[in-house]
Amino acid sequence: MTNTNSKILVQVDSKAYAQKPEGKEIGGIKSRTQKSEAKYLTIYELATEIEQGKSFSPGILESGLGASNWKEQQIFGVDIDNNDETLPILTPKEAMKICKDNGVLPALCYKTFSNTADKPKFRIMFKLNEPIKHDNRRLLIASTLVALFPQADKSCVNADRIFFGTNKKVKTLNKTVSFDKILELGSKQVTSEKHELTELDKLKANFDFESLLNEACGEITRRTKTYIMYKYCPICGHHDDFIYYIKSKTFKCFGAHGGAGGSIIDYLMATRNLSQMQAIDYFKYELCRLPRGKNDNTKEISQLELISAKQLIKQNLAPINWCIEDFLPQGLALIVAQPKAGKSWLTLTICLSASMGKDFLGYHTNKGETLYLALEAVID
Ligand SMILES: [Zn+2]
Repeated sequence: MTNTNSKILVQVDSKAYAQKPEGKEIGGIKSRTQKSEAKYLTIYELATEIEQGKSFSPGILESGLGASNWKEQQIFGVDIDNNDETLPILTPKEAMKICKDNGVLPALCYKTFSNTADKPKFRIMFKLNEPIKHDNRRLLIASTLVALFPQADKSCVNADRIFFGTNKKVKTLNKTVSFDKILELGSKQVTSEKHELTELDKLKANFDFESLLNEACGEITRRTKTYIMYKYCPICGHHDDFIYYIKSKTFKCFGAHGGAGGSIIDYLMATRNLSQMQAIDYFKYELCRLPRGKNDNTKEISQLELISAKQLIKQNLAPINWCIEDFLPQGLALIVAQPKAGKSWLTLTICLSASMGKDFLGYHTNKGETLYLALEAVID
């Protein structure tokens, strides 16, 4: 039996706002909130703080700002911003139905400062039955919850995310969800829509994907009736972020860099660097040992796994890993300008800001190591 009166650890801003904070205020709120001493509050006490317009940080940050200082977290927020114009508006009532249908009821929810009648903007907070202390589990929970709602802000899964309070009423349900329950939801999310079973589907259904994974991943961290969490992820190499869903025979890597999921075919594509056609070929003829027929080449083309644009748009992509939030993502970036425009100074400033974890042009940086090589090339 879970004690719903148990308190959760949160960091709450000391300053209250009657309107949505803007511009420079935001950096101040973030720094003040996440440098504040974390305190234990009941959901009702937290609701009171939010109603006063105080911001809060669900993730507890210790000894410094930035996602790398995340220590633990027990409540998880999903922002419904209704910003995707290709999708119908999601109302709070409909969102609550999604929660009910999936068996994950929130601890509290409230309309945000920018909510309007035409474009509802609201926040749903879920309370876990225990604090989460592993970052990949945190990401796993955050991304699974976000994927439940078609109109959710997909970018709000970072560890150092803060949430503003509101000038509206906070609805308190004080419900609790378990880690396992959330993982079960992930299983539904990777299962593709029902369609008639093709020959390939039948092969997939009969294939012992689990044994293949046992061999590839080795040690198992956690096993329940619905899923297996492997210690080693064959996709991204991280620990404890690879989940195999037993019933649907699908997997998901929750790594911030990997972020892959799907069937054995997707698995082969990701781990063997194969195209979809090559992966199907390998699966059928190597793993399932089907005899190769004469006309197989023409068959191959008709058996391509097609996905609709609707499925594509609904895909749950891994969140972007930012060096500088909303400005410079992980990966290769080019700064191009005419000579003497200030490219080198700009780059040096980026390096200094990122290395100290200081804001760059008002953008939050994720502290990391930087290496600046000023290699001037002379081109004749
Ligand atoms: Zn992974």
